[in-house]
Amino acid sequence: MDGMIIPPETGSGCHGGRETMIEAARAAGKSESLDQLMKDYPRGPHDQPQSMCPAFGSLRVGLRMRRTATILSGSACCVYGLTFTSHFYGAKRTVGYVPFNSETLVRGQLYEDIRNAVYETAKPADYDTVVVINLCVPTASGVPLDRLPKVIDGVRIIGIDVPGFGVPTHAEAKDVLAGAMLRYARLEAEAGPVLRPRTQAELPTVTLIGELFPVDPVGVGALLAPMGLAVGPQVPSREWRDLYGALDCAVVGAVHPFYTASIREMLAAGRPVVGSGPVGIEGTDAWLSAIGKAANVTADKIDASKAKFLPAIRAALEANPISARITVSGYEGSELLVARLLMEAGATVPYVGTACPKTEWSDPDRIWLEAHGTHVQYRASLEQDVAAMKDVKPDLALGTTPLVQEAKSLGIPALYFTNMVSARPLFGPAGAGALAAIVAAQTKGKERFGRMVSFFDGVGKGATAGYGWKEIPKDPPGSKERYRKAREAKAKASSAVGT
Ligand code: SF4
Repeated sequence: MDGMIIPPETGSGCHGGRETMIEAARAAGKSESLDQLMKDYPRGPHDQPQSMCPAFGSLRVGLRMRRTATILSGSACCVYGLTFTSHFYGAKRTVGYVPFNSETLVRGQLYEDIRNAVYETAKPADYDTVVVINLCVPTASGVPLDRLPKVIDGVRIIGIDVPGFGVPTHAEAKDVLAGAMLRYARLEAEAGPVLRPRTQAELPTVTLIGELFPVDPVGVGALLAPMGLAVGPQVPSREWRDLYGALDCAVVGAVHPFYTASIREMLAAGRPVVGSGPVGIEGTDAWLSAIGKAANVTADKIDASKAKFLPAIRAALEANPISARITVSGYEGSELLVARLLMEAGATVPYVGTACPKTEWSDPDRIWLEAHGTHVQYRASLEQDVAAMKDVKPDLALGTTPLVQEAKSLGIPALYFTNMVSARPLFGPAGAGALAAIVAAQTKGKERFGRMVSFFDGVGKGATAGYGWKEIPKDPPGSKERYRKAREAKAKASSAVGT
């Protein structure tokens, strides 16, 4: 290759040297890619990922797609973590990896190795698409995936940069790949005839954007039927030809509101976009009106759907009331919708924190929640979520793993959002009754949590936690002082460099 590779400072990564990485990436010619990422995924109070490596989002989208090969280019430790997580979540697919060392990186051989790997993998009998994902170090070094061929023997090649210093959450990284695929498919469709999706609805369709619980698209399909609409293929899609079907819709439902790049492609294809989702009575009422209006459905058909489903949702909510004070935090993008549903079922939700950014597509939910007295925190940091929980003292905290851990240590019942809440239907009558049972089961455990906290009272915590101690472990004599001196000496040595 003729591009110059500038290796970032050794030891830089997701938990250090962010500005150095950005500077290196810009110096290596990645300014355009970084500017787009920063525009699409603006940062908030925390400027480093606080959950898993963001690239997992892109990797997951690639691995869930049929006839798609996904290849990582990055440090071995990052790839180890990403493949481990993929298989933990049941990928059952090979994750490709092009390794590098300082020499192959500096000489530009890494790009040649990636190119060779892409040529070896792009066999039309096996794949429709080969995706290559640049992780932090190759992005900061300017490995130019945009120079890869766009197609090899009919197999599409898509190269994306997904550095932790440019994409704040793994949720948004899903959009990086979904958006890149939609763009490719849109340009193909604009250039000439393309394959029909395997199952193409006869009715005009609504494309739902976001990874949803499998029952939800079915439930939404039932809500749409009286309006003469059907659910089309979702984004992220499961097969390349589904992307054409997703683009060929009457209206887009941006259920997960942070898919900025995907929505941009939908708008470029001339599709109207509607935010929020059919949660609870008021949410479903408003969503059906907005979707119907965007799809030019007559008022009587919109009313027919409401007349059929709103009473069923009301009945489900009344049969499954929730009486609890709850805080909601997460990084899935559905936090605001979940809070609305909980509140319609009777819960008090004083605080909702989402790691995702504010976009216009979550405005209907934000406005509704704020009108009902809820504080909505976009780009919420773990520290903000924890502070809100301590302030609110809820009967139940829904949140990320570290928040749940903190809640339990305080004797507050808590549930992991991703595994427990996202693994249930959210929309229509099915969603209306889905959360009450787990909320009731958890809040009943409050007294048990209180006993647990008093049982463990006096046991070491933080650095002094562990098994096998009869008393709280003490730091070795003088260790703190030795570490302080070592830190100071290191800081002095690094500040002296270049003077
Ligand atoms: S690729 Fe992911 S794990 Fe590796 S340094 Fe970047 S953010 Fe961290």
